[in-house]
This record gives sequence, structure tokens and C-alpha cells, in this order.
Amino acid sequence: MNKIEISLVVPCFNEEESILVFYKDAVKICESLNNQFEIIFVDDGSKDNTLNIIQNLADSNNSIHYISFSRNFGKEAAMLAGLQAAQGDYIVTIDVDGQDPPSLIPDMLEAVTSGEYDCAATRRVDRKGEPPIRSFFARLFYSLMKKVTDIEIVSGARDFRLMNRKYLDALLLLQERNRFSKGLFPWIGFKIKYYEYENIERIKGNTKWSFWKLFLYSLDGLFAFSSKPLAIASVFGVFLFITAIVFIIFIIIRRIVWGDPVDGWASTVCIILFCSGIQLFSIGILGQYIAKIHSEVKQRPQYIIREAK
Ligand code: UDP
Ligand code: MG
Repeated sequence: MNKIEISLVVPCFNEEESILVFYKDAVKICESLNNQFEIIFVDDGSKDNTLNIIQNLADSNNSIHYISFSRNFGKEAAMLAGLQAAQGDYIVTIDVDGQDPPSLIPDMLEAVTSGEYDCAATRRVDRKGEPPIRSFFARLFYSLMKKVTDIEIVSGARDFRLMNRKYLDALLLLQERNRFSKGLFPWIGFKIKYYEYENIERIKGNTKWSFWKLFLYSLDGLFAFSSKPLAIASVFGVFLFITAIVFIIFIIIRRIVWGDPVDGWASTVCIILFCSGIQLFSIGILGQYIAKIHSEVKQRPQYIIREAK
């Protein structure tokens, strides 16, 4: 058998309506490249017909493979499984929903095969068709991450990437369980070329990301790449300590000069609420890191495969 040159890794979760459209597009592009290719569909515990469709594709075409999870493990796990299984010299991660145009692959491949870049990545330049509140929080997230982490997370970067073996090997060295790809990619470095394109609507169905899921994912990213939130607790502590000293001096002087007028239970309650609020907030931050350590030390696999071909 010829050596496989290009591997496409395609995570799918309840995508029965998009797979065939994607398949036709992707195969056309791959065949036009005249390279030996494989497409690895990763069924991330879909509840619809996704698995059936990709099984049929794999039966009819030797270049198609699939991995099917025992349940939904999330897109990060699906991409990881596909990347670990990929045989090609050049590996592409791409969504099945039509939002990542396979027509970009030949250009991306050229940039990487020329040796000038190790990875060709994509970012979308607009957020058209997205609720304004979502865009607002996305921007907030990127600017926050820029301030509190050492890595530069590219705004609007998508998971649509083409990388060479060297790049993939480096990526797979990072064995953390809480995977936040958007941060892992810039962390490993290398020379990356960015392609920009405007947002494309999905072929069918809705995004699998609710606002809440995205919010939690962004917190994952923050805690995975920065320990600065821990410093917030210390800053609050120092601030409260200094305030307390000032108050004590003030109370002593008032006692000496004016006697002892006891007043204001309301202010006492406010102080108690303020301090306990800050304490709970700080414990919460601490808790986030402990939860991450907990999930790392358990060493659970990041996905379970039910069947594969
Ligand atoms: N996906 C997945 N597992 C999940 C959620 C999504 O494998 O738990 C896949 C999905 O089928 C699609 C890609 O990840 O191919 C991107 O998902 P989606 O379009 O919902 O995200 P968005 O494009 O809105 O970021
Ligand atoms: Mg999408």
C-alpha cells in the first residue's frame, strides 16, 4: 500500500445532515491533489444516524476510516483520537458542518510542504450571524487571555488546521486531560501561517455550543494557561489587611480623643459580608485549580472507543 500523505480528522456529533455534503467536497479536493489520503471520521457518541452513514462510507471507500466513541466525550477528545490515529505526513483537522471550507486545503498544503511553515491555520475575520452578546464576551475573553497568559491566543482562530508530522508529534506530547486546543497550539510554537475567511453558515443543524458551554470552556482555558487568578486572592488579602490596620488606628484614636461611642451595627454587617464574599470568591478560585488537579491525577482516558475501522 502506498504511504498516506494527507489525513483528514473530522469530529462529528449528531451531524447526519452534513456528512455526505462534506464527504463529497472533501474527497473531490483530496483526489485533485493526487496524493494518497485518508479521512478519519470520529463519531463523538452521536444519537442520530451519524455512525451508520460513516460506516457505509468506510465500507464503500478504503480511504475512509472511522472511530466511534462509547458516548459523547466532546470535540477536544474527538480531535485527539483522530490525531492519534492519523497516518499521514500532513494532517488536517476540519469540522464536518461546512464552516471550514475544504477548498482551502490545497493552499494550506502548499504553504506547509514548501517547508516555510509547520502549520497552516485559519481564523475567521468577522462574527456575522452571531448574537452580539456572544461576540462581546468572545472579545472580552481574548483580551483577558492576552493579559493573564504568556501565550498569544489568536482571536477568531478556528480548529481548521493543516500541520506536518513534526508539529503533530509536538502536540501529542502534551498529555493533559483538560485540553484547550486554542491555547495548546500557540503554546507549542512553530511557524504558523494564518488564512482568514469570513464566517460561513453551517450546512444544517445548530452549533453544539450553548452560551453556557462556551463560558465554561473559556474558564477552562483561563485556568489551564494562567495561575494569575490565584494571585487575585492574595491581592484581596493584602488590601483587606491594610484596610484593617487603618481602621484599627482610626478606632484607637477615636477612643482616646472622643471616648467610646459604640455605633453602627449596619457597618459591621457590611464589613462581614464584604470579607466573607471575598473569602468565598478566593476559595472558589482555589477550588477551580484543585478540580483540575483532581481530574488530572485520576488519569482517566480521554475517550473510550466502542468500535473503529
Ligand atoms: N463536535 C463534536 N463533539 C461535540 C461537539 C461538536 O465532535 O461534543 C463537532 C461537530 O460535529 C462539528 C465540530 O465539532 O464537526 C464543531 O462543532 P460546532 O459546529 O457545533 O461548533 P462551532 O462551529 O459552532 O464552533
Ligand atoms: Mg460549526
